[in-house]
Amino acid sequence: MSEITTDLAILGAGPGGYVAAIRAAQLGLKVTIIEKDKLGGVCLNIGCIPSKALIHQAEVFTHAQEAESLGIKLDLSGFDYSKVFKKSRSAADRLSKGVGSLMKKNEIQVLSGTGTILEPGLIEVNGPKDETSTVKAKDIIIATGSRPRSIPGFDFDEETVLSSNGALMLKELPKRLVILGAGAIGCEFAHIMNSFGTKVTLVEMLDQILPIEDPEASKVLAEDFKKRKIDIHVKTRALGFKKTKDGLSVELEGPDEKKSSVSTDKLLVVVGRIPNTEGIGLENLGITTDKGFIPVEDYCQTSVPHVYAIGDVVATPLLAHVASKEGEIAVEHIAGHSTTTRIDLTLIPSAVYTEPEIASFGLTKEKAIMKGFAAEAAIFPYRGSGKAVATDAAEGIVKIVYDTESKEILGAHIAGSRATEILHEVLLASASELLPEDIASMIHAHPTLSETVMESMKLIQGAAVHI
Ligand code: FAD
Repeated sequence: MSEITTDLAILGAGPGGYVAAIRAAQLGLKVTIIEKDKLGGVCLNIGCIPSKALIHQAEVFTHAQEAESLGIKLDLSGFDYSKVFKKSRSAADRLSKGVGSLMKKNEIQVLSGTGTILEPGLIEVNGPKDETSTVKAKDIIIATGSRPRSIPGFDFDEETVLSSNGALMLKELPKRLVILGAGAIGCEFAHIMNSFGTKVTLVEMLDQILPIEDPEASKVLAEDFKKRKIDIHVKTRALGFKKTKDGLSVELEGPDEKKSSVSTDKLLVVVGRIPNTEGIGLENLGITTDKGFIPVEDYCQTSVPHVYAIGDVVATPLLAHVASKEGEIAVEHIAGHSTTTRIDLTLIPSAVYTEPEIASFGLTKEKAIMKGFAAEAAIFPYRGSGKAVATDAAEGIVKIVYDTESKEILGAHIAGSRATEILHEVLLASASELLPEDIASMIHAHPTLSETVMESMKLIQGAAVHI
């Protein structure tokens, strides 16, 4: 049994854990990171990166078909999805290896194996060849992430009932796919599979797709999906499924308890994620979870001194950039860094990489009114943008929620081409407490999609030009 002594031990090397490790090394701490699977966690290996690689290729495939409108006839008969799959895996592998190089460069010790916390400051690690080591550390960060949530009656077999893991590992396209759950992951898979020609049915229990997004932004995507012949069932739940001679039949219950069934080859269940907080030794620390999540204070401290928790194991939005930021916050707190700020939930960007994209932060108008703001929304349509029209991307909106008295920007909801990029101008303005007039008066290059942001701010001034 080997014994390692270090300043900081991190359990899990996803975007929370590996970013925390690098920041800690920058601040002069001796770091050991323990990972039972691949460096980079869900995000790099079976989440953000492979899904975005598939999305990129789906869009290349769609745009290739659009070449006909230019009089160019492409022969797409050689299309082979297994090559698309391979490309997505090579993007994931490349980035996971890149994390390995960053660990070396920053002199971070990587320990392969499953870690269990035995007591504050002590972790036992069972390695891949059954070898055991112990890691003694002044501070510990728990960053063990999350896994797909299933629903009763729809257990994952990754053959016919898929989680996002199974869907990302498909080497062949199903002809028909029913997706249960129309959150960001469900909508991204609907976009990917529909682009490659799969018949997609999207089922959502709540009353709109992307239930946590602004209703008008969600509508932009729903209308586009409908044009693309994606069947959308909202206010609908799946009751069960049975095997038939040509696939599966899924039983649905819609509004007014109306029952229907839909035939499919595979089912994809993407209804949320469960934090990995069992079997990691929380009971040895006396930490109790809340709905599976580890309760934390402002700087990600748990109830036990010198033990921190970050990323998908805590009840902030389950996003890679939140995990990474929390990693930085925890480490800077450990190192006594003076400028550390806590996570501000109103300034977390959310991004859905469909086409059109959906991006947002802060409050919707409805939520702002409920919170007591004198809230109003300015909506500038993409069709008022020269760049949007010139690039065949005229569907979309920039919606800015603001307080009519103070003019404070309370939220932004963008649905349209490159929404995930142009959101950040509004986010920076809001974080810096700038007012709409500050963006409205700044010269924006023409033609750019960012002009839609400028115009939406001018709308608040009563001075929008292209509407
Ligand atoms: P994880 O990435 O889950 O990493 C945790 C690591 O801990 C894993 O590698 C695991 O093997 C390891 N581990 C667990 N237990 C132990 C143990 N006992 N010992 C040692 N190691 C252990 N987020 C975005 O922001 N943008 C996106 O576009 C996006 N797309 C996504 C698409 C899909 C299909 C999915 C599933 C998720 C997506 N996410 C996206 C969410 C994002 O992947 C997660 O929020 C992020 O990975 C969380 O990071 P983390 O470090 O907390 O945990």
